[in-house]
Amino acid sequence: MLSYRHSFHAGNPADVVKHLVLAQVLSYQTLKDKPLDYIDTHSGAGFFELASADAQKTQEYLNGIAKLYQHRSEHQELNDYIDLIKSFNDTEQLAFYPGSPKIAEHFLRRQDKGWFFELHPRDLALLQENMSGKRSIRVRGEDGFTGLVGLLPPASRRACVLIDPPYEIKDDYDTVVKTLTKAYQRFATGTYMIWYPVVDRERIERMEEGLIASGMRNIQLFELATEADTDVHGMTASGMIVINPPWKLKQTMDKVLPELVNLLSDSSGFYRSEQLVAE
Ligand code: SAM
Repeated sequence: MLSYRHSFHAGNPADVVKHLVLAQVLSYQTLKDKPLDYIDTHSGAGFFELASADAQKTQEYLNGIAKLYQHRSEHQELNDYIDLIKSFNDTEQLAFYPGSPKIAEHFLRRQDKGWFFELHPRDLALLQENMSGKRSIRVRGEDGFTGLVGLLPPASRRACVLIDPPYEIKDDYDTVVKTLTKAYQRFATGTYMIWYPVVDRERIERMEEGLIASGMRNIQLFELATEADTDVHGMTASGMIVINPPWKLKQTMDKVLPELVNLLSDSSGFYRSEQLVAE
């Protein structure tokens, strides 16, 4: 029984870092004319109205995208992300926030394919509605972990993958490492992005150790903590682990993450930008 709905969390600080990295990776991967396969294993509904009852119940976006929306950075990459979110809004007023499928769709070209997996029946229906109308887009109401492995290696021989589970099932931490190991065996040159929450630091440390021990090469990690680690209450930080990242990604995140700490974190917040495994 799935209870997680991303509509309660859309546009929060975790989405900001996740979607900034996703946009950076996809803008780089679509520079070459060659076709690309984008695979989103856990898609969610794809598009969110921030005036909805769900978003208003938690108002998490107020601590995330709302703090950036009128901000101009000295770093073009952060401005590009803010402008991307603005392109989904009609006015200067923040009213909508795109999920990963709509962000990916923005970058995908005629020659590319997008594969979107979602299991929650209500979010699947919304996703189908939000992603309809393009022949190159395929929405699947199937398990994204097995779906991903089944699609590899892609016919295009170029793939960009987002793995963004809700981690409401504690096995998801292990399943991520096992699925990645299988995916990498089938297709070692793909770019894989894995989102993770820091609720219990030890779980993330185990996940990092599992990836380091897996034999995969060129792994980077980017994390934003809006407050110090705690074992008392919920998520304090989140991050993206990227396997085979674009060469400029770490340089960009080294510049942008300190700015995001200033804008989104309290005085105990911090960031990590690390090469976990060398090329
Ligand atoms: N990637 C989305 C974004 O950035 O906008 C958010 C995704 S949300 C964190 C995780 C989603 O995964 C939920 O909508 C949930 O219903 C879905 N889900 C959970 N387990 C799944 C599975 N095994 N396969 C596919 N989708 C799953």
